[in-house]
Amino acid sequence: MHDIHTHIGQFNQTYYEFHDVFNALKNNGIVETTFAYLTPLFTESAPALRFYKIMTENTKAALNYAKEINLKANALYWIDPMILFAGMTLESIMQDLDYKGLVVHPFLNDWNPADFKRAELLTKLFEYASRENKEIYFHTGCSETDNPMLFERWFMKFSDVKVHLAHCKDPEPIIKLFSKYANLVGDTAFCPQDSYKAICQAGFKERMFFGTDFPISHWYQHYRKENFPADEKSLTESYSQTLIEYKKFIDS
Ligand SMILES: [Zn+2]
Repeated sequence: MHDIHTHIGQFNQTYYEFHDVFNALKNNGIVETTFAYLTPLFTESAPALRFYKIMTENTKAALNYAKEINLKANALYWIDPMILFAGMTLESIMQDLDYKGLVVHPFLNDWNPADFKRAELLTKLFEYASRENKEIYFHTGCSETDNPMLFERWFMKFSDVKVHLAHCKDPEPIIKLFSKYANLVGDTAFCPQDSYKAICQAGFKERMFFGTDFPISHWYQHYRKENFPADEKSLTESYSQTLIEYKKFIDS
């Protein structure tokens, strides 16, 4: 099984160490994962660049570790617009680490397509992805910043770029976009069951991939408690619970 949507790094106050995350996946029979380092919001370049260095080193170490334990791992670069506005190029980022694809997170980062600078950056990303054969992962949701319809003109213009729409929470825009653009796929991470059903009934079952958003799923299972462990044991149990729920989810 390939979990197409996982993370390492810090979520709120909880730090998810890559050894524990990958071991938990492995312990549950996952053979491949596609992951992105959780990247907080920066509004200035200097702290964004400091974070970038740490993130790159950690991601490299994570990839090495995955190899050691025989887990196929594909790293994605979570695009921080501050990094690109600071003058770094996608080419140099990809030289630091050969990422499989790019993540656009329009709920956390500002990707307002009505803003000229951001729209221009999106075009650059798609041009790059098209040239270098990279996938682009969009966080999607139901708000006015992450509704995937906002980015339709790029999906249309760059029909050769494979775009992965994460979560698929609202079936209406997903079905609309899937019907028009063959380059789009989705995932089941935090996808509500009625949404998944509607997308499948519209004929797009084969374009919905298994993803969990692990270990964010672990965080949501535990955050109401004052203290909770985020070690390998706790993560392994959490993931096994997620798999049980997923089986129910696709069977009904
Ligand atoms: Zn995610």
